[in-house]
Amino acid sequence: MRISVADHPLVAHKLTALRDQSTDSLTFRRLADELVTLLGYEATRDVRVEPTQVTTPVAQAVGVRLAHPRPLIVPILRAGLGMLEGMQRLLPTAEVGFLGMVRDEHTLLASTYAERLPADLSGRDCFVLDPMLATGGTLAAALDFLIRRGAASLTAVTLLAAPEGVERLRHETAHLEAPITLVTAALDERLDERGYIVPGLGDAGDRLYGVAG
Ligand code: URA
Repeated sequence: MRISVADHPLVAHKLTALRDQSTDSLTFRRLADELVTLLGYEATRDVRVEPTQVTTPVAQAVGVRLAHPRPLIVPILRAGLGMLEGMQRLLPTAEVGFLGMVRDEHTLLASTYAERLPADLSGRDCFVLDPMLATGGTLAAALDFLIRRGAASLTAVTLLAAPEGVERLRHETAHLEAPITLVTAALDERLDERGYIVPGLGDAGDRLYGVAG
């Protein structure tokens, strides 16, 4: 698995504001959106393109366009939805699939509760959005799900990652032949006993959308 931790002052600046507990939901959503667009630039570095030609007002020019099948963006419900628009801004022609995964608060194990994805992902570059790579259980299960459907490459985009989650993801994807990349705005210190990233930013879903009862 290739890991890319953003090294950019704008990312660090926005992430600091995102972490701040006094940042309200509206600002949090805007910052998350902006961060994803910055991370998306790196995440799409190897997206498949094909040659094409265009006529400029002056002459013919050779260029590229996104290859078919189109890339697939997969936000993990619910918090991944807060990253969708930012990624779509970079890949407006990508298709979007949804994966609902929930983590048991006690066992910390992830399970799938909803899925809306093409049955066959052969040849697809898939971009999986989940703001927090904590224990790694959710993302590992999501990547496994997409690989089973034939995804050609998987790129996980997260705002924060814990070393424990990165290790687990690395371990659980080691046998996969498809290229796996993790792009994150920062690698934090550790997980606490509740599975929260430290220093982190708290519960990303709650901060994006408020506490759901
Ligand atoms: N999920 C979150 O929303 N926050 C964490 O710190 C860990 C998992």
